[in-house]
Amino acid sequence: MIPSVLPTYSRAPMSFVKGEGAWLIEADGSRYLDLGAGIAVNVLGHANPALVKALTDQAQALWHTSNLYQIPQQQALADKLVDATFADTVFFTNSGTEACELAVKMARKYWYDKGDKDRVEIITFSGSFHGRSAAGIAAAGSEKMVKGFGPILGGFVHLDWGDHDALTAAITDQTAAILIEPVQGEGGIRPLPDQCLKGLRDLCDEHGILLILDEVQCGVGRTGKLFAHEWAGITPDIMMVAKGIGGGFPLGAVLATEDAASGMTAGTHGSTYGGNPLGCAVGCAVMDIVSDPAFLAEVNRKAGLLRQKLEGLIASHPDVFEGVRGSGMMLGLKCKAPNTDIVAAGYKNHVITVPAADNVIRLLPPLNLTDDEIAEAVKRLDAAAASLS
Ligand SMILES: *Cc1c(COP(=O)(O)O)cnc(C)c1O
Repeated sequence: MIPSVLPTYSRAPMSFVKGEGAWLIEADGSRYLDLGAGIAVNVLGHANPALVKALTDQAQALWHTSNLYQIPQQQALADKLVDATFADTVFFTNSGTEACELAVKMARKYWYDKGDKDRVEIITFSGSFHGRSAAGIAAAGSEKMVKGFGPILGGFVHLDWGDHDALTAAITDQTAAILIEPVQGEGGIRPLPDQCLKGLRDLCDEHGILLILDEVQCGVGRTGKLFAHEWAGITPDIMMVAKGIGGGFPLGAVLATEDAASGMTAGTHGSTYGGNPLGCAVGCAVMDIVSDPAFLAEVNRKAGLLRQKLEGLIASHPDVFEGVRGSGMMLGLKCKAPNTDIVAAGYKNHVITVPAADNVIRLLPPLNLTDDEIAEAVKRLDAAAASLS
């Protein structure tokens, strides 16, 4: 008999009733150190007092009005994002995949309005993940995501990640945009080298096409900059954001330059809930903390400490781990043992990590994890690895 919850996930047995900072707690009081943060979502940990206050204050005042009216919290969050980034304008969604839908529509409408109606193709890369909506799965294009779901949205050109020659050859007069994650998340924490991101920007400029960055996982302080592309010193034309921006409240956004967004006039897009007062009140509280340079400096310091301890862990367990990669607090341990075994052994030692493709386990902890928690996390990972050797 089918379970009452549609069985599209294979879930671990834990069931949490409470969160405190980097800790998740079960009904019987057992505590787990959370290095997954709900897949890079809880950037400020669980039950962060500033976020709880922002949400409860707003909940007592007003939940929802729709985008038929002015929403001051949405205006405030858009202003913060515009001030802190390349963007001139922001549309709010409830998730990453909805941000993908709009990014694709925006890129196509841009060319349509310029009279270049055949320019609809978007170049994407193997190992990428852009969500589970129709445009999201079509963009990623992996068989695992699209098989069985009938005709998929056309107009995506899929290339091998890192194949520069194929990329240059793939650009035609039908190319509208290139869409890429600066650091692949689901694909196994594969950071695009800064040089490559610069090269992509140059290539887009040379051909006059749009660069869309998916920073749903790597954005919002995760890599030690507010957004990952800042490391390369470039800016996109369109950027997808979600996960961390709501700190645990469902919230996403598409950020864009005035030029890239020029086709999205009144009536061309919409969302009932996107940019609602609750989500945007929390988003403002997240931005106030995460965009502070002192906060980001701490993220970088702690990321260095974590990475150094992980190098030690790898050296102690050469039969279990192969290496560490990633950027800031978005780290991947490339495994020799099956990654799912290591994640399960972590659960037994009350430390939570997230598996990814390419036999990697992901470490995406709250960005405000303490030094002591970093030491404790690596101690628990060490015990988990020892139990497998
Ligand atoms: C999670 C993720 C998405 C999809 O976000 P949802 O909120 O699950 O729809 C898109 N892109 C990337 C890079 C992601 O990590």
